[in-house]
Amino acid sequence: MITLKSPAEIALMRQAGRILVAALEDVKKAIAPGVTTKTLDEVAARSIKSRGGYPAFLGYQGFPANICTSVNDEVVHGIPDERVLQEGDIVSVDLGVVYQGYYADAAWTFPVGAVSAEAERLMSVTQQSLWRGIAQARAGNHLSDISHAIQEYVEQNGFSVVREYVGHGIGTRMHEEPQVPNFGPPGRGIVLREGMCLAIEPMVNVGTWEVKQLANGWTVVTKDHRLSAHFEHTIAVTAAGPVVLTSA
Ligand code: MG
Repeated sequence: MITLKSPAEIALMRQAGRILVAALEDVKKAIAPGVTTKTLDEVAARSIKSRGGYPAFLGYQGFPANICTSVNDEVVHGIPDERVLQEGDIVSVDLGVVYQGYYADAAWTFPVGAVSAEAERLMSVTQQSLWRGIAQARAGNHLSDISHAIQEYVEQNGFSVVREYVGHGIGTRMHEEPQVPNFGPPGRGIVLREGMCLAIEPMVNVGTWEVKQLANGWTVVTKDHRLSAHFEHTIAVTAAGPVVLTSA
């Protein structure tokens, strides 16, 4: 069942989104060569709690940290630990915030110091693909218009979209229906309506789209160990078009 959110509910999700983006800014400032991913986790948790939110990933299906930090060939669900970030790495930071019972979810891939031209292009294309997807999140469009816009842009630029993990509805739970794939033909799936809230989240690989999960049961890496990037926003479908809720 897909729930439609009232303007008051969307306003609460927006509050969660503001807290999330402030935390993401704090994490961004902390990213540098020599910093551990565990430090980023601590920065995010402090930031979220200081603004009255709660880190939604902590304990979710047993996840052992506040945020996900996925470095280089890690696609999603990397667990913050003693890993030290190196100059030239890219790190995807994915975090959820719950505020007064409403959720926001977003991700951003950051460079660590100076990175390769390939890494720069991957981050840029992934972020642009997210905006292409968001632009399709309009009442009357089909769900897969989002999916198609993302895949088309990514593949035009020579990269691939991950198939095994997808975006999702969001609201009073972090993961609600519908699933929002980052691939597929246009004009399929449900018709979007005002009040639908979606987390749109392209995961884009330089090489193959195929991924595998590590033995820790969480971390997902590219099968060919080439780079992966991840950008995500929580958006609401409104009469005025798509509104990004994970913004300042
Ligand atoms: Mg998500």
